[in-house]
Amino acid sequence: MLMNRRHFLVAGAAAAAMPGRALGQVAAAGEVDVAIVGAGAAGLAAARRVASYGRTYALTEALDRAGGRAQTNATTFGLPFDLGADRLWGPRRNPLVEIARANGLDAATALRLQRVRIGSRDARDADAEDFASALSRANRAILTAGEQRTDIAAARAVPDIGDWLPTVSFLLGPTFSSKDLDEVSAADYARAEERDEEAVCRQGLGTILALAAVPLAVQHSTPVTEIDWSGRLITLATPRGTLRARAVVLTVSTAVLAGGTIRFKPGLPAALAGACQRLTLGSYNRIGIELAGNPLRLRDDERVVFKVPSPAAMTLRGRVGGTDLAVAGIGGRAGRELEQAGSAAMVAFVTDTLAAHYGAGIRKAIGRTFATRWGHEPTILGAVSAAPPGAQPMRRALAQPIDNRLFVAGEASHETQWGTVGGAWLSGERAADQALRAVGVAIPLPASPAPPAQPKPERTPKRRQPRRDDVPRRD
Ligand SMILES: Cc1cc2nc3c(=O)[nH]c(=O)nc-3n(C[C@H](O)[C@H](O)[C@H](O)COP(=O)(O)OP(=O)(O)OC[C@H]3O[C@@H](n4cnc5c(N)ncnc54)[C@H](O)[C@@H]3O)c2cc1C
Repeated sequence: MLMNRRHFLVAGAAAAAMPGRALGQVAAAGEVDVAIVGAGAAGLAAARRVASYGRTYALTEALDRAGGRAQTNATTFGLPFDLGADRLWGPRRNPLVEIARANGLDAATALRLQRVRIGSRDARDADAEDFASALSRANRAILTAGEQRTDIAAARAVPDIGDWLPTVSFLLGPTFSSKDLDEVSAADYARAEERDEEAVCRQGLGTILALAAVPLAVQHSTPVTEIDWSGRLITLATPRGTLRARAVVLTVSTAVLAGGTIRFKPGLPAALAGACQRLTLGSYNRIGIELAGNPLRLRDDERVVFKVPSPAAMTLRGRVGGTDLAVAGIGGRAGRELEQAGSAAMVAFVTDTLAAHYGAGIRKAIGRTFATRWGHEPTILGAVSAAPPGAQPMRRALAQPIDNRLFVAGEASHETQWGTVGGAWLSGERAADQALRAVGVAIPLPASPAPPAQPKPERTPKRRQPRRDDVPRRD
């Protein structure tokens, strides 16, 4: 616990030591080359890119903080607790790893420790083997279905895996894409990049983004309410005044775009509006609980998978960073119902699950608790985008430039790294490059992908191939 607290303080000191000067210049007259809406991973990446070319930008954020769905809470438990993203997938090519290290933070590859709990005992070797086989068979079947010409719901591809079905469906569904498998396109699932390696940042993934924002001029608490792109310059209305820009990068979630809180004049093209309507966000939330004295006898950062009879499921990561903090994850339809019922219901679900598996005495060991409710955050409205059957091509539609002046970024617009911070970041850089080109900056077009004969293994994203031990995961 001390180690984490100290590391977090180091991160805080690093933030304080960053120069106050903003990267790039914000034009005094309120007219900028590129306006960026939203300061989550995509928006921060876009602003850094525009600033690095010496062009003017305005970066507006509705909330009083940057980071969006990556937020580290350091107050509730007195140590870093990531409320949203906490894993850096594909660390060898994840841009956030370099940013973490450049800011003096740790970003270390994480071991994957996991145990399966069946009723009141840990899984025996034979059970664990059954579970691994069921998980692998289901995953492979969805990947194979996703390669077929006709897209289907991932749930339809899952073979008979007996009484492991609800547990495996929870792991491959809500913990991966925040939706149940019957709502998930097998093609979208199959196109997602392999999550076979992960890194964690001891000071919190949200801290990385908070530090990435420090050298930028973020206009906090400045929601954009209207974007008028009928004239030569695009005007953006906010409660603090009107901005004018030659190009706009839009990074708000698809749920926010579909929700209509930003009015567009003229309205968004039908293809884009349709993509937002279909690439809806699912539900995934974390519940942090203090478990003094390691009553579950877990190793540091070990994940517990609970064998369940129904979709009402959760996972639990114990002893996060070697501390008394444990973090449960719930999601999908059952998780959404709990989220709607409120924080107390979410905590009660976690407590009851632990009591059912470890005995009622566990209740006494539970200290402080905190439940996120991303679906109720008006500027986010859910967890991550997951395409329903047939909607995988919508990701590309989302990323199409509008009138060569409006560019959509954000996790939903990345075809293979959707639902991740790394994908959001890369999409922000892509959209910023498009915007820069639109305002006359000579940026070379991206090179076409390397031919299969000469791949660059350390930088080239891998498509997910069926593998026995492939275990897609979010937590
Ligand atoms: C519980 C949970 C766990 C996750 N776990 C992981 C993980 O372990 N690893 C991983 O890689 N990914 C994870 N993710 C996904 C990851 O957090 C997201 O993919 C990523 O952070 C999205 O970034 P973004 O920039 O696309 O969008 P956002 O982070 O949503 O940023 C958009 C920003 O726009 C702002 N905004 C909205 N409306 C307006 C407006 N009108 N005007 C101005 N600003 C506005 C919002 O406040 C927000 O800050 C998780 C997500 C959740 C919810």
